[in-house]
Amino acid sequence: VCSSDLAVARPSRASSGAARPSVCRCRRYDDLVSRPSVPPRPFTVALIAHDGKKDDIIRIAKDNEETLKRMRLLATATTGALLRQKVGLPVECVLSGPQGGDLQVGARIAAGEVDAVVFLRDPLTAHPHEPDVQALLKVCDVHDVPLATNVASAKLLLERLGELRP
Ligand code: PGA
Repeated sequence: VCSSDLAVARPSRASSGAARPSVCRCRRYDDLVSRPSVPPRPFTVALIAHDGKKDDIIRIAKDNEETLKRMRLLATATTGALLRQKVGLPVECVLSGPQGGDLQVGARIAAGEVDAVVFLRDPLTAHPHEPDVQALLKVCDVHDVPLATNVASAKLLLERLGELRP
């Protein structure tokens, strides 16, 4: 996170509250697509799937295996274990979503450590950690991090990322 952005983002206590916080400009989409680092570093992608979507994320990962192998992967515990076992991908795992894993991923996004997120949500099932899910979605929007929440958008996102940094 840019320190200059933080300075802007924190209005002084004395202010009337009219100042609106700015978002970090470190990870904008334009930077992602137009300013490859030299030497190029691998993208970091976070992968999360609710239980009803675990089969989908395995399928997506298999279909994009070569692309994902070139990236650093971060996942919540159960999703990450499945990606390791069923696809053979090296994945850094945080806690399971309901145990705070979504918040851990969100913190990494806020720190500017994640380039894209695939979060296959199950919109037809209630989740005890729904506030954590919402927080993760929000932090992606705050920091303009590409976020795919369904299969079709996940395919498009991974295909595009694969093209950006072969
Ligand atoms: P999980 O967590 O990968 O540990 O199942 C996902 C979630 O429910 O957010």
